Amino acid sequence: METEIKEIEIIFFAEIKEINSLQDLEKLRIKYLGRKGILDGLFSQLSHIESSQRPLLGKMLNELKEKILKEIKEKENLWAGDKELAGIDLSLPGLYFVIGKKHILTQTIEEVLAIFEKLGFTILEGPEIETEYYNFTSLNIPQEHPATEAFHTFYLEGEISSGERRPRSAPGKGRYLLRSQTSTVQVRVMENYLPPLRIISPGRVYRPDAVDASHSFMFHQIEGFAVDENIKFSDLKGTIFVFAQRFFGKEIKMRFRPHYFPFTEPSVEVDISCIICQRNQKPETSNQKCGVCKGKGWLEILGAGMIHPRVFHFAGYPKHKYTGFAFGMGVERMAMLKYGIEDIRLFFENDLRFLRQF
Ligand SMILES: [Zn+2]
Repeated sequence: METEIKEIEIIFFAEIKEINSLQDLEKLRIKYLGRKGILDGLFSQLSHIESSQRPLLGKMLNELKEKILKEIKEKENLWAGDKELAGIDLSLPGLYFVIGKKHILTQTIEEVLAIFEKLGFTILEGPEIETEYYNFTSLNIPQEHPATEAFHTFYLEGEISSGERRPRSAPGKGRYLLRSQTSTVQVRVMENYLPPLRIISPGRVYRPDAVDASHSFMFHQIEGFAVDENIKFSDLKGTIFVFAQRFFGKEIKMRFRPHYFPFTEPSVEVDISCIICQRNQKPETSNQKCGVCKGKGWLEILGAGMIHPRVFHFAGYPKHKYTGFAFGMGVERMAMLKYGIEDIRLFFENDLRFLRQF
């Protein structure tokens, strides 16, 4: 019987090793410690054993019972609080959760807005469905201007409802369209608020362009403008320079080139020194042209200028009282320049291999 007890101990410890659910553990407990279990059977055999051996064997049996109880208890405690885990193979690899993040364009918009908010600008958004009045007329773009042609703008069907402002040059008529620029926000804001104004306005704009590496029928712009008494061109320059340094890096240089926009006078295009050339620090002898600036060393980042007096006229502001500056930038362009992205289509194709890089 002594050997039998030792064998049972070995078998029990082998069996409990294989157990991985509370149900099986309970079955094992009943098998060994239950009323008609293995140990009970051994205890009842004791009465048939020679009386001199009984105390020793009784002691051995009791010790085995204690060991089995302790082992089962330990295994139970290990699983306590994790009852739902019973029966699950804990050695299997876990479930993989993908942590989402913001699209690169959203990140870029938020970065730009944060910079201008720190400069005292307020975020305001305008409608994407606009009237000809706000998209053209109020921005000093006359009805006969090529920009108003159907191949430059998406027009919507139906005439605009009464109560909306109509183009002066075409009284009684006027159509809805998808705005082709975020500058539409300028007069909308000025109609409702008096200076001082410092507004930054992000949003989608639409042009009926064929899609290629640098064109999309929908893209994002950020319009900014400031209006007050005595706003000068130097205020525009300082604001844009601070923005460009914070967005592209302290080392950039900036230059203004004369340009023409109907709603600003004078108008400029703003370039920064090519950040890719700067980063690569290419030796003078290198004849390999930089793919981003095409070897020019400058990158156009935005258009800007002093707000045209006609725009203030459409806004209903008193003559000669206020001056202001305005600027507009393409969000896709800013992201492409900053990160060296060469194809605008990558932003809209939802290819996670591309999007996860940012
Ligand atoms: Zn370059």
